[in-house]
Amino acid sequence: MTTTLGFHGAARTVTGSRYQLIHNTKRTVVDAGLFQGLKSLRKLNWREPPFEPWKVDRVLLTHTHIDHAGALPRLVRNGFRGPIHCTRATLELARLLLVDSAEIHEEDARYANKKGYSRHKPALPLYTVADAKRALKQFEVVDYESWVDFGSGLRVKWQGAGHILGSTSLEIELEGAGGATATVVMSGDVGRYDMPLHLDPTPCPPCNVLVCESTYGNRDHDASISIEEQLAEPIGDTIQRGGTVLIPAFAVGRSQQLTLILRRLMTSGRIPEVPMHIDSPMAVDTTKIYSRHLDEHHLDEDVFADGRNTLFPKHVELCKSVQSSKALNHAEGPRIIISASGMLTAGRVVHHLKRLVRSPRNLVVLAGYQAPGTRGRKLLEGEPWVRIHGQDIPVRAECVSIHGLSAHADRGELLRWMQEGGASPRKVFLTHGEPEAAFDFARKIGRELGWPAEVPELDQVVDLDPLLWS
Ligand SMILES: [Zn+2]
Repeated sequence: MTTTLGFHGAARTVTGSRYQLIHNTKRTVVDAGLFQGLKSLRKLNWREPPFEPWKVDRVLLTHTHIDHAGALPRLVRNGFRGPIHCTRATLELARLLLVDSAEIHEEDARYANKKGYSRHKPALPLYTVADAKRALKQFEVVDYESWVDFGSGLRVKWQGAGHILGSTSLEIELEGAGGATATVVMSGDVGRYDMPLHLDPTPCPPCNVLVCESTYGNRDHDASISIEEQLAEPIGDTIQRGGTVLIPAFAVGRSQQLTLILRRLMTSGRIPEVPMHIDSPMAVDTTKIYSRHLDEHHLDEDVFADGRNTLFPKHVELCKSVQSSKALNHAEGPRIIISASGMLTAGRVVHHLKRLVRSPRNLVVLAGYQAPGTRGRKLLEGEPWVRIHGQDIPVRAECVSIHGLSAHADRGELLRWMQEGGASPRKVFLTHGEPEAAFDFARKIGRELGWPAEVPELDQVVDLDPLLWS
C-alpha cells in the first residue's frame, strides 16, 4: 500500500473533522476539529488519537471553525511539532478562536474543581491557552490557488470554499509509481451560492477520490422568500414604533453577514437608517479581520460597492468594551443590536434580552438554528416566560425567525459544486453529516451522478491504491 486515508472524526456525525492521509510513508493530517454536542461525542475529544501525533509530518487546515481546528492545541499538547498550513485569514481567525476555546476549557476545569463534580482530581482542561499559543506558532500561511509542493509526491492547492472567511477545499495531487499522478479532493465545509458577503464556492476539480461534507445532504434550504424580504417588514415596523431590534448571532461570519444585509436594506430605503451596534468582543475582532481581507477577492464584490476600505463604516458601531456595551442600555431612539451568542445561551446578548424582551415595542430576530433547551428555542416556540439570571422574565417583545442564513451548502448546492468543475471520482466518501443525511445523500449521488458513494465509520482506514492507481 502506498496511500491510505483514515477517517478519525466527522464520521457519521457533523463535528470532529480529522483525517490522516498516508502517502509514501509521509503522514498528513487534514483538519483537527473538536467533537461538539452530545456528551458521548464530546468524550471523544479526550481519547488518544489513533495515530502518534509526533509522527505526523504536517497538518493541512481547511478553515477555522472549532469542529475543524479546535483540536489542534490538543494535538500539539500530545506531541505534534510539524507545520500547520492554511490561508492567512484562517490563521488570523484561529488566533481568536483557538485562544477563546482554550479559555473556555480552562474555565470549565476551574469550575469542575470548585464544584468537585469531575471524576478526575484535579480536573484538567482539554488544553490550555499556552497549548493554543504554541499551536499558533506552528501555523504557516499558504496562498489560494497556488500549488504547494511538500515533496515525497504530495502537492496541495487550497481553493475558496465560500463558507466563512479563509475557508477552503483542498486539491491534493499524489504522485505514484512511474510518475503517475492522481487526485484526492477534501471538500472542507462547502459554502452557498449567491450569498451576501462570501463568494460562491470554487467548483470541485477533477479527482479520483472525493471526500465531501454532507451536513445538509438530505435537505434543501427554503429559498422561497429572500432573507432581505424576511427581515424588512418586522424590522421596519419595529423602527417605526421606536423599538429596538435585538439579533442574537454567531460572532464569526453570521454577524458580519447580517450587518451587510441590514446596511443594504437601509441604503435601498427599505428600512429607515438607524444605528447598528455589533456588541461582542469576538464579533468585533472578527469584523476587523474581515475588513483586513477586503482586497483578497474572497468576499462578495458588493462589499466594495462604495469604494470603502472597511467593512461597515456607516451607522455601524463596534462595541468591544463592557462600557460601550452597557452604554446601549441608556441609548435613546430605535436601533439594531447584533450580539453573541447565537442561541441566547451566554454572552452580552443575554443582558440585552433581559432588558428588551419585556416590551412589545421591541423585536428579537432569531437568525439560525436554535437547539432544544436554549432560550432561543423557547422564544421560537412562543413561551410566555424566559428565565434569565435566576428570574422569570415575561416575553412581550415580538419574536421572528429568519431562514436561509446557513453557511453550509444544501443538497442541491453540494451536487452543483460536485459537478461544475468536471469531476468524475471513482469513489465519494461522505463525512460531516448525521447518518440519515449522509446515507440519503450517498443514494442520491449514486442515482443522479452514477458515482459510488459510501459513508465511512469512525477510524475506518481505506486503502486508496485501487482507486488511485489501477
Ligand atoms: Zn465550518
